[in-house]
Amino acid sequence: MLIHKIEEVRAQVKEWKKEGLSVGLVPTMGALHAGHLSLIKKAKETCDKVVVSDFVNPIQFGPSEDFDKYPRTLDEDVRLCSGEDVDIVFAPSADEMYGGNKIRLSNDTLTYVCPPFFYVNTLCGKSRTGHFDGVCTVVLKLFNIVQPDYAFFGQKDAQQVIIIKKMVNDLNVPINIIQCPIIREESGLALSSRNKYLTEQGKKDALVLSKILNNIKTCYSKGITDVSALKETAYSFLTDKHDMEYLEIVDRDTLENKTKADDNSIALIACRVENVRLIDNIYLKEEN
Ligand code: AMP
Repeated sequence: MLIHKIEEVRAQVKEWKKEGLSVGLVPTMGALHAGHLSLIKKAKETCDKVVVSDFVNPIQFGPSEDFDKYPRTLDEDVRLCSGEDVDIVFAPSADEMYGGNKIRLSNDTLTYVCPPFFYVNTLCGKSRTGHFDGVCTVVLKLFNIVQPDYAFFGQKDAQQVIIIKKMVNDLNVPINIIQCPIIREESGLALSSRNKYLTEQGKKDALVLSKILNNIKTCYSKGITDVSALKETAYSFLTDKHDMEYLEIVDRDTLENKTKADDNSIALIACRVENVRLIDNIYLKEEN
């Protein structure tokens, strides 16, 4: 069922709750691919009813980012969701979500959720000022609209999941956050809606991200723990096709920097290929 209005989602969820049914929410920006579908499948396994939100959230894009050209494929998304037996696809307009407020990054008129400085002043937050404020604000709004028992997020956006778990914990939001593994193409390329911007050659060049991460994991498994040494192994993979933004090895639960990697470390990378900003990550020990 495709719903555009907040009040209609609320009414339907209220009915479900009366019947004692559990509700799962999968927040997405649409342009659904197998990564999103894996979250939806997990939600269907876990919950009686599943809501997928499909909303390109303007307030998480910076002024020079790709909000206008971000792929929008609602009809196809609805078709894919029907195939997974999703109960509601919630696709609000920006006006429905933000009303008369300014809908670009600006806190002149909107109450924002601002994660702590430590969490947003690192990794993706360094180059994407305000991004995680926009993410947390829309996610908390979706939580308040749908009031799910569970919400499902991908490890693909590992920093995002950590920040959302922190928000849920700090603000006593009564929702279980479930993290799902990264889905990749057979080549190793992590699925992303932004892969649509890449040419065939760009997709090949983009394999460097997963290659760098896998190599770091292999080196760690062979006993190299010095973070600088592990990071240096990346250089042999990079060419002039790659514009690296960051490569970091941090604690996978807290994002804290370390000088020595350990079994709780995660390696994260952001790199531009054909001017498309791609991210990926890997746990140094198992579970990927
Ligand atoms: P997005 O539509 O990009 O905002 O992503 C919606 C959700 O899908 C987020 O929780 C992402 O982490 C997750 N996701 C995106 N790509 C993948 C992937 N390749 N594997 C698993 N989850 C993913």
